[in-house]
Amino acid sequence: MKTTQEIRQDFLDFFRDRGHTVVPSATLVPASDPTLLFTNSGMVQFKNVFLGSEKPNYVRAVDVQRCLRAGGKHNDLDQVGYTARHHTFFEMLGNWSFGDYFKRDAILWAWELLTGVWGLAPERLLVTVYHTDDEAFGIWRDEVGVPVERIVRIGDNKGAPYASDNFWQMADTGPCGPCTEIFYDHGAHVAGGPPGSPDEDGDRFIEIWNLVFMQFDRQPDGTLLPLPAPCVDTGMGLERLAAVLQHVHSNYEIDLFQHLIKAAAALTATDDLAHGSLRVIADHIRACAFLVADGVLPSNEGRGYVLRRIIRRALRHGWMLGVRGAFFHRMVEPLVAEMGQAYPELVTRRDTIEAALGAEEARFAETLDAGMKVFEEVAARAGDTRTLAGEEVFRLYDTYGFPVDLTADIARERGLGVDMAGFESAMQAQRERARAASQFGGAITLPSELASSLPPTRFEGYDSHVGQARVLAI
Ligand code: ATP
Ligand code: MG
Ligand code: MG
Ligand code: MG
Repeated sequence: MKTTQEIRQDFLDFFRDRGHTVVPSATLVPASDPTLLFTNSGMVQFKNVFLGSEKPNYVRAVDVQRCLRAGGKHNDLDQVGYTARHHTFFEMLGNWSFGDYFKRDAILWAWELLTGVWGLAPERLLVTVYHTDDEAFGIWRDEVGVPVERIVRIGDNKGAPYASDNFWQMADTGPCGPCTEIFYDHGAHVAGGPPGSPDEDGDRFIEIWNLVFMQFDRQPDGTLLPLPAPCVDTGMGLERLAAVLQHVHSNYEIDLFQHLIKAAAALTATDDLAHGSLRVIADHIRACAFLVADGVLPSNEGRGYVLRRIIRRALRHGWMLGVRGAFFHRMVEPLVAEMGQAYPELVTRRDTIEAALGAEEARFAETLDAGMKVFEEVAARAGDTRTLAGEEVFRLYDTYGFPVDLTADIARERGLGVDMAGFESAMQAQRERARAASQFGGAITLPSELASSLPPTRFEGYDSHVGQARVLAI
């Protein structure tokens, strides 16, 4: 059976043999795109190539891109621990054509790699195409030989102007085009329906590979002009693919994750290897370690606050498993053992990573235990509304360092919600008190959490199950 490391290498080899230049992963902090919080897909580092302002010396590329979907446009943080297929940090395998080959080669190679090289049973695979993309439909049916009942046409998304699950675009104008996605059927014993069905959001039919065909240039008036040199951008989740190739139904059961989960179990003295908290810790150590490796440190704003929130979520899961001391920074060692070969920066920056995580761990340890007791009291007062009062959520945030999404996450486990509007107004009131106090030059008592680095008042939007509310992220 192939290890995750071997699968990563197979992918690079397959496309290198077909004339692709191997390009290293970019960092999680996008180098040239201040509008983007994190690198969330393979195309980020090639954005300027697609826009035409950068010309690499190759027209075909292959890479394994580390990605983070824990803030900004893509946020899968609240899926972690709840689905078998979502991580905050994951690796995206991609092959690229910059004005070279197009739909036919991209589709035929994807099929050859999956069914030929890796031997996946064709009858387990389903594909989707954009509803008007007869060209892709025809290639799948006539050249690959996929039966029409397993080729699903996917239309536009509910009401969103140009968005659709199977139509990709970089922005409101510019390069865009249809996608075709490949799904694997894990079997009838797993819950979930095929793509395009009402219960598609399950773990039975798992999307493994997205092939994007950039063929249009959308004009400000919405017209689609054909691009002179169409491009291909593909992305396949390494962990999902490994699950398929290792005959398991969850990403968390692949070799890489099992090693991390065992390490987490040892550090937290947990016997039950299937415990959900171990999965979350295994997920979060990757996100946190790579963020630090790529230059992010825990802080109260922007990227640093996303890191802080993920670390605190992991620490809370450790607490749930009964840990009362430091453990999380000790996950760096097994992570380096697992991924250091593919990512040498983990090895060279190991000390920094351990120190940063350890410091944050020590800091949160001062309030975590007391905060959890307060949470229990607050939860007991939720009453029939099944909602935690905004004032109380604010107190947890202000005095105990519980980011609002952490509180919402714990509440969700108990079937409780959070009064976001109430939290926001408590936060606003606090800000006004601080402003008034500083006007009079008086000594104000800032919460210990904020005292060191209160930034200018600032909102960071972030998507989460607690609603579309804008959440203060300082
Ligand atoms: P899904 O619909 O399952 O959330 P997606 O459509 O958002 O996936 P894409 O943006 O198309 O994903 O990314 C390309 C590939 O990256 C996906 O086909 C999948 O294999 C993988 N992938 C996407 N999000 C995640 C994640 N959070 N964790 C692990 N792999 C992911
Ligand atoms: Mg998604
Ligand atoms: Mg999808
Ligand atoms: Mg997709």
